[in-house]
Amino acid sequence: MEPPHSYLRDRSEAVIHHADYLNGRTDRALHGVDDRALCGAALHDPTPVPQVDVAEALCPDCEARLTAYHLEWWRAKALALTAELEALRAKHPELVETPDTAVAPAPAAEEQTEPAATILDGARRELAELLLQFEGAVPFYRLKNAMQDFSDRLSDDDRLRLAQEIGPDSSLIRWATAEVERRGLSVANNRVQKNEVMMWQEWLQESQPAPKPKRRFGRSR
Ligand SMILES: [Zn+2]
Repeated sequence: MEPPHSYLRDRSEAVIHHADYLNGRTDRALHGVDDRALCGAALHDPTPVPQVDVAEALCPDCEARLTAYHLEWWRAKALALTAELEALRAKHPELVETPDTAVAPAPAAEEQTEPAATILDGARRELAELLLQFEGAVPFYRLKNAMQDFSDRLSDDDRLRLAQEIGPDSSLIRWATAEVERRGLSVANNRVQKNEVMMWQEWLQESQPAPKPKRRFGRSR
């Protein structure tokens, strides 16, 4: 599930634009009948471009506005799904468990049952939200700040649970880095600041799995 794209160009020009998905024109844009580009350019003789080669010139102004379109698209998708869920709940009230109607659970053998939602689920949601803003690569400091903020908002108990969920051999940063890569993105060193090299080194140390302890004794300095 990804936001669909539609391309067009003026018959007399080589540059390829995205159709204007924004401003309530998504339907027109996606049906290839648009005469306005995402960047705002008016096309006098619009020609749909069914497929775009990576080597072809895409309008950079259109590219710059893609993120706004993607955010809009995902928001609309989320709202539609929420509405659908509400409709299903209204149709099947017997399936909705509220604190009032919930049946008291039979006494469990163990007091400490596994909670349905883990703290990592929360971290995963937070991460997914962050990644919506990026295509291909997320700046490492944004990832680090997002995970730090998430951790800071937890209660002490939840932070402890999070550490248990992650396991003793990893960290939130390492988990998040692996998660980013699982979603097909990468973490990038693109901070433009004077101490960026040092910070990137620190990031690499934090984000990579620790070296095998048995090698430690053979290490030469
Ligand atoms: Zn354009």
